[in-house]
Amino acid sequence: MKRILLVEDNTDLAGGLRRNLEHEGHRVSVAGTAADALALAVQEVPDLVVLDLGLPDRDGYHVLERLRATGCQSPVLILSARGLEADKVKGFRLGADDYVTKPFGVVELMARVGAHLRRTSAAPEAAAGVGLSDDVLRDRYGLTERQIEVARLLAQGYSNAEIGEALGVAVFTARNHTDQILFKLGAATRARVGAILRGQAR
Ligand code: CA
Repeated sequence: MKRILLVEDNTDLAGGLRRNLEHEGHRVSVAGTAADALALAVQEVPDLVVLDLGLPDRDGYHVLERLRATGCQSPVLILSARGLEADKVKGFRLGADDYVTKPFGVVELMARVGAHLRRTSAAPEAAAGVGLSDDVLRDRYGLTERQIEVARLLAQGYSNAEIGEALGVAVFTARNHTDQILFKLGAATRARVGAILRGQAR
């Protein structure tokens, strides 16, 4: 079973795609906004991301850029009504693996999804599944549930102010958590936290 993150704000389309993907035996999480997509990508560590470009908050390019900047290596298949060559080139430059123009045939889309997933299972170390689980962060590093939450945000490049906002706590509380996390992980910098969480620290 593969985990697929479906980023699509059109609920009809998202529902139809979800049914098709689940029919293929995959577990599907649906995000309707860029913010939800980025949060889910950290929580779920998907094997594949299907990404719509037109989203209500930020566009899909922004999501893709953030995913790649934070070390997510899952294949990303862009699904978009924007069919211009320039749109596709921009997508590939930002790290997309495939680009399908709407309207699309669902059978072809499922075939493409299957092809990308086969490639990642053939090279598991290249898939985004690598990285430290919550269990490891708790048991080996002694992070609390809250600190694990904060560490995942740190790994995404959130500032203390943004963490405070995301969790509804004061900035100094966020800073205290950050200091504790750096100490427990033995990380010299915030960027290092991302590397450790992704299992890339040496
Ligand atoms: Ca859309």
